[in-house]
Amino acid sequence: MIPNSSRRLGSGSLVIATHNAGKLKEISALLDPYGVRCISAGSLGLPEPAETGVTFAQNALIKARAAAEASGLAALADDSGLSVAALDGRPGVYTADWAERQWFEGAPGRDWYMAMGKVEGMLAEQGPDVDRSAAFHCTLALAWPDGESALYEGRCDGALVWPPRGTLGFGYDPIFVPEGYDTTFAEINLKETMGISHRADAFAKLVAAQFGG
Ligand code: IMP
Repeated sequence: MIPNSSRRLGSGSLVIATHNAGKLKEISALLDPYGVRCISAGSLGLPEPAETGVTFAQNALIKARAAAEASGLAALADDSGLSVAALDGRPGVYTADWAERQWFEGAPGRDWYMAMGKVEGMLAEQGPDVDRSAAFHCTLALAWPDGESALYEGRCDGALVWPPRGTLGFGYDPIFVPEGYDTTFAEINLKETMGISHRADAFAKLVAAQFGG
């Protein structure tokens, strides 16, 4: 059991334990209204720890704690992925790993089409009546240099479709239809316009706990 601190961040500097510029920008925009100045772990030259956990929470904590210890500042990390009910929650923390690293027109990337096909192949093996429900998860971990930490877990429930549909978004978006909709995450920018993503859910919980009344 991981202790969930009720400690508050307050305004000041927060290290965002990511080397992904897109994530830093998104998180900075969300926290800026609360007077939090976000600094990326990459810009401080902090190493990326190995994600050896078997849950989203464990991996988010590994990243947040490593950044807090190395920087001496509070740090925030996230870990996310897709859990498919009929696959006992897989790919889970291995969501990105199921897509092989490839070179696309000279730039490194991952083969998401292959990863989506792998999920679909495993579902198809279970027959036409297989349970196609799935959920995207996002866990945010806040850690302080003295070892205290807090977790905020968000999810977005839905179902998987085949073939993939749409060109927006990234990762497994083209096969994920969120509950209450009939379009995939990649067909319309649902996640952003409706704020229904697993990430939006986790951030709403963090903001309520950290900056709520
Ligand atoms: P991480 O949080 O960067 O470790 O994300 C793990 C993987 O989960 C990503 O590489 C994506 O494949 C997948 N994933 C996480 N969030 C989403 C999403 O909103 N849409 C599609 N795929 C996602």
